[in-house]
Amino acid sequence: MRAIQVLPTDVANKIAAGEVVERPASVVKELVENSIDAGARQIEIEIREGGKEFIRVTDNGSGIRRHELKTAFLRHATSKIASADDLVRVLSLGFRGEALPSIASCSEVEIISRTADTNEAIRLKIVGGRVDEEGPWAGPPGTTVIVRRLFYNTPARLKFMKQAATEKRYCAEYVTHMALAHPGIAFHLIGDNTSMLRTPGSSDLLSAFGSIYGSPLARKMIPVEWESAVVSISGYVSPPEETKSNRSYESVFVNGRWVQDRLICAAIEKGYENMLPTRRFPIAVLHLEVDPTLVDVNVHPAKTQVRFRHESDMFREVMLAVRAALHGSNLMPRLTPTKRAASSDKPRTWSPTNTLEADFVKETEPSRDGESCGTPQALPAEFKPIADTHADRDKQELLDHMRSPLAEEEIPPEAEAVKRYLSQASPMGQILNTFIAVSSPYGLWLIDQHVAHERILYESVLARHRRSAAQMLLSPLTLTFSPTEAAMIERRLRDLAEMGFAMESFGGTTYILRSTPIEASDKPDEAGLAELLVEIVSMWHEGGDGRREKAAAMIACKAAVKAGKPLETVAQRALLSQLARTANPFACPHGRPIMIAIDRQELERRFGRG
Ligand code: ADP
Ligand code: MG
Repeated sequence: MRAIQVLPTDVANKIAAGEVVERPASVVKELVENSIDAGARQIEIEIREGGKEFIRVTDNGSGIRRHELKTAFLRHATSKIASADDLVRVLSLGFRGEALPSIASCSEVEIISRTADTNEAIRLKIVGGRVDEEGPWAGPPGTTVIVRRLFYNTPARLKFMKQAATEKRYCAEYVTHMALAHPGIAFHLIGDNTSMLRTPGSSDLLSAFGSIYGSPLARKMIPVEWESAVVSISGYVSPPEETKSNRSYESVFVNGRWVQDRLICAAIEKGYENMLPTRRFPIAVLHLEVDPTLVDVNVHPAKTQVRFRHESDMFREVMLAVRAALHGSNLMPRLTPTKRAASSDKPRTWSPTNTLEADFVKETEPSRDGESCGTPQALPAEFKPIADTHADRDKQELLDHMRSPLAEEEIPPEAEAVKRYLSQASPMGQILNTFIAVSSPYGLWLIDQHVAHERILYESVLARHRRSAAQMLLSPLTLTFSPTEAAMIERRLRDLAEMGFAMESFGGTTYILRSTPIEASDKPDEAGLAELLVEIVSMWHEGGDGRREKAAAMIACKAAVKAGKPLETVAQRALLSQLARTANPFACPHGRPIMIAIDRQELERRFGRG
């Protein structure tokens, strides 16, 4: 056995590097975090060959004083904390003092730095962890770090790196999130001599978002503002129609730090209730500000994880924040197929392809096979909702330079204004026995009677649930199931009773149904109810989130008035006023639109009055 001894510095650094420097993106991460900690307002990142050959990070931050430059490369050398007490309230991104020595132990590093109070920069070259060159250099205040030939002296890690294109993607993903985390900093990412990303650094999250994901998406985003005792949340979420096939567009920052947290993502999705199509994910950028003593950021040096002291509170708050944002926002799709830019200066030319009839009939014809309550089809472009709230209006100035001008009167009314008008509206009548037409001061509204009723019943079922408002049936119904179905029903008798379905076995696979939820009690028909019960227990059997909400949506769908059914005027009016009292009158529990607006401006334009 060898004698016990302290490892030489270069060996210790290499071991630390194994933790901190996983791949080029982790070098980018560490260097950019140092720039941010140094108070930089501009950060330029250049990579070549996915960062495997060359990484440069240049900032206009504080710089490092001449006599401290070498110290920065010593293990556990940091200017960010001085004692263990500082650890609990650390707000800087770095604090371990490991990044620079770790990077320098497995690459060739060049650093040029100048503080504002000197007029000369100093340059250091470190190869294999040893200072190679040192001397004065010309340059502006700030710091440039260049990392070449990453892992040249650690063959195992060199082999472990992926193709340049993949490493480049990791770097870009990281810079994207840093840019969203710090909209006040102007980021510029250059990959193989091509500009990949550039944010303005105007401090406005939406303009940073727009410069990354494009302004058409940015203008659809719905602002989130939420304050509570434990957390304050701000940012943007997409309307339910704008979704992605994975979670990579859900960006969450805790005290300015990008985190990848399944809990928070689940809470965001839960905030959409059931409005998201299955296996689709929203686009979200949320900043959470939490008392630093209530989160542990010390989990892993390279990973984007946090640990919350009160996880379930955090889940609840994020869910409520997203829900409030969606409810407060007018999600009504508007029929605006005219190009805004063209409409303002040129009169529209009449052609068969842009007739109102063509656009309208094509998209809203009721389905022949009665009601299908599945996930919504993607909405055609002209039916995409336009979100608007107060906050959005404050953003008007910013938005103006991001998009073609939008006249004040073209901004859709706020959700509350829509509800207010709806609550006392006199319907003009039904169209195709399916859509209720309302003449509003904002234009023509068309309301899908089935979907509207579905939303009313859905919220009613959920609100009643705990008190389990059941309606006893005058004559109990006898329902017979297949053996598999009966087995599933048998296991869920209690859950079903809680929802208002009181059932008992009648021997074999037959059951007696004595009550239904009030919402489903209108015209009990055996086949329909049996089908509904099977749907609910099968869904419970599959498991997954939102079981209560999904069951409520199923009940609502079954019980809601069908398309194609003539309704008396009083019934139409009742439907509208009940709809006005729902939390979200714009989308059914599955995300289908309830109302569509043909704005006044659109009507005027179509008739050549605009
Ligand atoms: P840590 O960030 O954990 O303190 P690092 O090894 O990343 O450790 O950096 C060591 C020290 O070098 C930092 O504490 C900071 O004082 C200084 N430093 C590193 N990069 C920069 C930079 N871009 N601008 C100014 N100072 C820097
Ligand atoms: Mg650092």
